[in-house]
Amino acid sequence: MKIAIDGPAGAGKSTVAKAVAKKMKLNYLDTGAMYRAAAYAMIEQGIEPSDHEAVLAALPGLSMKIVYENGAQKVLISGKDVTPYIRTPRISKGASDIAVIPELRLMLVQLQREVANEYDVVMDGRDIGTYVLPDADFKFFITASTRERAKRRYLELRETMPDADIDEIERDIIARDKTDSTREFAPLRQAGDAVLVDTTDMDREQVIAHISNMISGAN
Ligand code: C5P
Repeated sequence: MKIAIDGPAGAGKSTVAKAVAKKMKLNYLDTGAMYRAAAYAMIEQGIEPSDHEAVLAALPGLSMKIVYENGAQKVLISGKDVTPYIRTPRISKGASDIAVIPELRLMLVQLQREVANEYDVVMDGRDIGTYVLPDADFKFFITASTRERAKRRYLELRETMPDADIDEIERDIIARDKTDSTREFAPLRQAGDAVLVDTTDMDREQVIAHISNMISGAN
């Protein structure tokens, strides 16, 4: 069983994908964390994720591994767990910048497909239904208005960043959506056979129930 969940930044994909995976006893792969970890690895070496040439030169030295600890996904870079450091606005932007580079994408897509070949999986990202797993059993495209997505990110970020600004978050989200949907290789796009779920007026539990019902209803 392969389930693809795509959508723009801050739509709540990972929360929903994680919950659906738990409910249906499937593995969960957050592919955004892989692009974030790649950006983090470059920044640590003093390389800007938007500097294509420098990223390309550093790619052969990039060693990424996905492991699970008590059911939680961790991304290792050269053996070090970088998961705690990849949820900052700087890394969000870096991930979107580095995700434009086809060579980097191909490297991560290969890892993603290896996970899907080995396990039943719920995978979330931007190009899962269109590119990584075109034959997925179920495809969902989760979205919400930009203001609602900014509000959700704001509430999340506020816990660690008390001076987070909702307007700035909304601007970042709009910029990231633009980079993600206009890149040439595997852009953010709803697959023709994906079910669109607009969560603007839904809460987390409603979205999880809606998606789980569609999956079990079809089985
Ligand atoms: O999902 P998340 O916001 O963590 O993803 C961070 C960035 O990684 C996205 O803005 C996007 O540029 C990139 N990404 C991607 N393809 C995926 C998952 C994430 O390009 N499958």
